[in-house]
Amino acid sequence: MEYAIKCVGVLTSGGDSPAMNAAIRAVVRAGISNGICVKGIYRGYSGLIDGEIRELSSQDVSGIIQRGGTILKSSRCPAFQTPEGRKQAYDNMQKEGIDALIVIGGDGTFTGARVFSQEYNIPVIGLPGTIDNDLWGTDVTIGYDTSLNTIMECVDKLRDTATSHERVFLVEIMGRDAGFLTLNAAIAVGAEVAIIPERTAVAEQIEEAIGQGKRKSKNSSIVLVQEHAVEGGAQTVAKILEKAHPEYNTRVTILGHLQRGGSPTAQDRILASRLGVAAIQALLEEQRSIMIGVQNDEIVYVPLSKAISTKKDIKADKWTAMQILSI
Ligand code: ADP
Repeated sequence: MEYAIKCVGVLTSGGDSPAMNAAIRAVVRAGISNGICVKGIYRGYSGLIDGEIRELSSQDVSGIIQRGGTILKSSRCPAFQTPEGRKQAYDNMQKEGIDALIVIGGDGTFTGARVFSQEYNIPVIGLPGTIDNDLWGTDVTIGYDTSLNTIMECVDKLRDTATSHERVFLVEIMGRDAGFLTLNAAIAVGAEVAIIPERTAVAEQIEEAIGQGKRKSKNSSIVLVQEHAVEGGAQTVAKILEKAHPEYNTRVTILGHLQRGGSPTAQDRILASRLGVAAIQALLEEQRSIMIGVQNDEIVYVPLSKAISTKKDIKADKWTAMQILSI
């Protein structure tokens, strides 16, 4: 049987996340299984512009499912935000005989893909690859579960010292504008406070949780601070806290890029594998300009426009649970 699409390009772009490799592997093998050639584009959109492209065989993607990061490398590519850059990218696609693109990344990557798809009428499928879990239309994103587990392991270790030295540990968590990692990690580690962008009144939150006698039975605390919940992140919260309670023994830990790396969890490997296979299937069904997501454990197709423009909210019951369980 002849398929309209004979060759697909795959790239990873923006912030890397664990199990991007599992997604690449799935795209390559599902493509080959369906008689489609898959070409790897290196360094995100930069590779499309510079022509860093090569065909990937099944062997090329063996032994990578357990590796963090991305074998295709990633980058931020300002040139792709210009019409000239995208023209060059299109010319290279033509030269390589690439009929469609599968892009693995976050909302920036999807925004670029959508613009490109509209400009040149190219089928583009997005796979949600970000630790932040901030893409609307999918319950989870590739790398989120691994990152959550990494944070949990790190904070569990900090808890030992917090308890031994009777300290307040402020732990800064990455997550762009979203509090999913911070709130869920807070529940998982039994943090006393979670400060996230979706909820305001930072000073009041700290005061209420630590200063109002709630802590009578505890002499150490873990406070998780989402990096952008307050300007200056955990350092700012530390200053507020020290001013209000000079008696507290406060320490700040910034997890930073630690939470991006590492071998992906089983959940992430399975998610990425399913999404990669579904991306090829979607192209065979002549889908274009969609993100493949998972809702209630079912694969769903979500228009890229909607995935980008709709804000995903935190679950109210999780916020409530966090408050109740931190007494
Ligand atoms: P993420 O995909 O993780 O959100 P970025 O926001 O850094 O990461 O976006 C990744 C890349 O997507 C950018 O470096 C750029 O090449 C491309 N991109 C982002 N926004 C646009 C846009 N408006 N037009 C074209 N390309 C874009």
